[in-house]
Amino acid sequence: MPPLEGKRALVLGVANERSIAWAIARALAADGARIGLTYVGDSIERRVRPLAEEIGADVLGSCDVTSDAEIASLFEEVQSRWGSLDVLVHAIAFARREDLMGRFVDTDREGFRIALDVSAYSLVGLCRAALPLFQAARGGSVLTLTFAGSERVFPNYNVMGVAKAALEAAVRYLAADLGPEGVRVNAISAGPIKTLSAAGIRNFRDMLHVAEARAPLKRNVSADDVGRLAAALAGPAGAAITGQVLYADAGLSVLGV
Ligand code: NAD
Repeated sequence: MPPLEGKRALVLGVANERSIAWAIARALAADGARIGLTYVGDSIERRVRPLAEEIGADVLGSCDVTSDAEIASLFEEVQSRWGSLDVLVHAIAFARREDLMGRFVDTDREGFRIALDVSAYSLVGLCRAALPLFQAARGGSVLTLTFAGSERVFPNYNVMGVAKAALEAAVRYLAADLGPEGVRVNAISAGPIKTLSAAGIRNFRDMLHVAEARAPLKRNVSADDVGRLAAALAGPAGAAITGQVLYADAGLSVLGV
């Protein structure tokens, strides 16, 4: 029997076929899970619907994570369609373009607030809203995506590095809160991957070249690498793992100089 047969997985963050969330959704579906996808705005909805058809996923509606009302209505929809939830994937981040270039010290209060709200707080709000559905499933697995810019300085990553640090700390606090309910919370720290969001970071292409040349495995990471790891973490292989940040970066983060 496929390891995720009978499991229900809600995946937030598919924008197009390059999205890490899309690779995760495919990997979860390949392991037998039923998938639910969301979108933000009409142009993403137009991309998400045909992708959902490819894997027989349910499109559960719009969910802009800056809106408590949209989060609440998403989980009402999940409740009425599925009645419970086993896996929640949070593959969402946003910062204003001007905050992903130049000096971090120039980030103003509003730019900081937006990046932290969308990229870090949203995990907390989603977990709280999902909890009754995880309880109905007698446990669950939450996964988010982070980047090594949380711990070290990468040119132009700036406020997003600070948001990822908050996100990783939230993973640990959520794991402690939700562990007694049988809910595991983890993050995958992926090496650089060419996606729509990554294109917003100035000189991202240089980062890809440097990572490929320097990483011990001498290659970049693919979205499918991350998808396969996500599916393993959601299944029996991840049963004893919670509160962790797992690096899927071809080894880049172990290097000193
Ligand atoms: P992507 O652009 O495909 O996905 C980002 C998603 O965030 C999009 O679907 C977008 O609609 C969604 N989003 C933005 N604001 C939102 C909001 N207010 N409400 C709901 N959704 C919103 O890019 P990606 O690279 O696949 O990013 C997915 C995650 O992976 C992000 O957390 C990103 O930081 C992380 N990550 C990416 C890389 C990389 O190099 N691409 C590396 C490590 C971690």
